[in-house]
Amino acid sequence: MLRLSNVTYRYQQETFSFDIDIPKGNVVAVLGASGAGKSTLLNLAAGFIRPLSGDIKIAGISVLDVEPHLRPLAMLFQDMNLFAHLSVADNIGLGLHPGLKLTQQQRACVLDICRQVGIDKLLTRFPEQLSGGQKQRVALARCFVQNKPLLLLDEPFSALDPILREEILAIVKNMARIKNVTVLMVTHHTNDALYAASHYLFVEQGKVADFDEITNLTSCNQNTAVRKFVQAGELGVSPALL
Ligand code: ADP
Repeated sequence: MLRLSNVTYRYQQETFSFDIDIPKGNVVAVLGASGAGKSTLLNLAAGFIRPLSGDIKIAGISVLDVEPHLRPLAMLFQDMNLFAHLSVADNIGLGLHPGLKLTQQQRACVLDICRQVGIDKLLTRFPEQLSGGQKQRVALARCFVQNKPLLLLDEPFSALDPILREEILAIVKNMARIKNVTVLMVTHHTNDALYAASHYLFVEQGKVADFDEITNLTSCNQNTAVRKFVQAGELGVSPALL
C-alpha cells in the first residue's frame, strides 16, 4: 500500500535509507529513539521532503512528482491543526473543500463522521471551547472525512493523558478498520503500540531495522535495539530519551 523502494535522503551529515512495503489496512506503530528518522520517514511519504533517489508508491502509483496536498493521504502532527476562528463543523469541512463550499452530501458526511468519533454535539463550538481530547477528535474527524487510504500520525496524541490517549487510539483503530485505512503512527509509548497497532516498524539510524507483527514486539528474540526500547518503556524511562 505504501512502498518506499531504495529511498535515500540526506540532511547535512545524516543519511537515511528506507526500503519498506506496508500492506493495506495495517495499523503500524513507528517506533525508535529520538532522532532515528521516524518523522523523516513520514515526511518523505507525505512529500514535505524529497528523496535523493528511489521511489515512493501509494496504492501502486508513484507519488514522487505529486504535490503534498494532492497525495492520497491525510496527516496529523504534534501541534494540533485546528483553526481558532472556525467552528468544529467548519474545521472538519475544510478536509472536503478548502473554501468550505460543501454540497448537501458533503455536509451529511461531516455529520456522519462527527457521530462516529463522538463529537456530534460540538459542531458549533470553537476550538477554544474544547478540551484537549475533543480537539484531537475534531482533528481526526477531519482526516477521516477525506476518505484517503493512508493516514500518517506524527505523535499527535503524546500530550494527552494515558486514558484519553487510549480513547483516541480506540477511535483510530476502529475507524481504520471500518474505512480500511492504512495508518502509520509515530509513538514513544510501547503500550499505545500494543493497544492500537497490528504491526510495528522500528527505525534506527535512518533505516528500518525491524518490521513485524505487533504480537512479536515483546518477544525475547527481536532485534537488540527494539528490546532495549521496549524495556526502557517498561521501566518508565521515556524511550524518547534513548
Ligand atoms: P525522529 O522522528 O525519529 O525523532 P527525525 O526524523 O525528526 O527523527 O529526525 C532525524 C534527524 O534528521 C534529526 O537529526 C533531524 O535534525 C534531521 N533532519 C532530517 N531532515 C530534516 C529537515 N528537513 N530539517 C531539519 N532536520 C532534519
